[in-house]
Amino acid sequence: MPATGNSVARGLLTSGESSRYLTDGRLDSIGTPTCADDYCLGLQTVLTVQAIRSIVWADVICRDRAGFARPAGHGRMDANQESPYNPFGMDESCQNCPELAETRSQVVHGYGDVSAEFAFVGGFPDSGADEVGIPFMGAGRETTLEILRETGFTDSPPETTEPELDNAVLTYAARCHHPEREPTGEEFSACELYLTSELRMINPEIIVGVGQHALEALAWEYTTRSADEFDVEAEHASTVRGRGFEIVPMIEPAEQTDAQTDALIEHMLDILDRDYRQTKGRRGR
Ligand code: SF4
Repeated sequence: MPATGNSVARGLLTSGESSRYLTDGRLDSIGTPTCADDYCLGLQTVLTVQAIRSIVWADVICRDRAGFARPAGHGRMDANQESPYNPFGMDESCQNCPELAETRSQVVHGYGDVSAEFAFVGGFPDSGADEVGIPFMGAGRETTLEILRETGFTDSPPETTEPELDNAVLTYAARCHHPEREPTGEEFSACELYLTSELRMINPEIIVGVGQHALEALAWEYTTRSADEFDVEAEHASTVRGRGFEIVPMIEPAEQTDAQTDALIEHMLDILDRDYRQTKGRRGR
């Protein structure tokens, strides 16, 4: 089945679609639903269906009536790539953590380019990100934007709170703000399914782990280290080999010295200069 390159679309399934493709709790790998998009005028073939807890997504190839593959980026299962906000349509009224659901202004899901090779994963939204609804657009926003600009991921002006991103996505390990405390371990665990799902769907080459909380959240799933073996201060602007990803630890933007920002930019430019795609075999963007 010629399911390669840009012809594969990846998207979340609704609960109705999920139950259609998941049989007796086992993953069903093939289906042929009718495509709901007029552009397609044909069939979608579901190549793989994967699930983490209640989130289920599918890799889909679309074919027209003559059987030719159509480009990704359309159809009801696709990420909403017209908007950088919450591109996979994750639950914006999530109640998994009752206290956080009371105190947040909004859930701050991922933001950016869904085909990004670089994912910046922070710990949790501060009050500024909670207000704006975009990760990293609170304290340390200017440093974040400087890093994104200097590494070519944005050319948006320094004063923006809605940067246009190319090849980068911003997200958090826990997505709701509490004005008086950090999320608890239980709340980080409750939110893990969103991060895992986003990273599986985006499949970045490099994960920039921003702050100690994010590194610890990434440790178990994406590295062979335990959480307490990470020290963001000591490993800032270095590369840690992970399981399927390379991880770059980064001190919280609001806490970085100018020298630490320069070091991070230099390290990222070094990565961009080398063949960082070798782990996934991408041919380029
Ligand atoms: S922190 Fe995550 S799991 Fe908890 S309520 Fe917010 S979005 Fe839901």
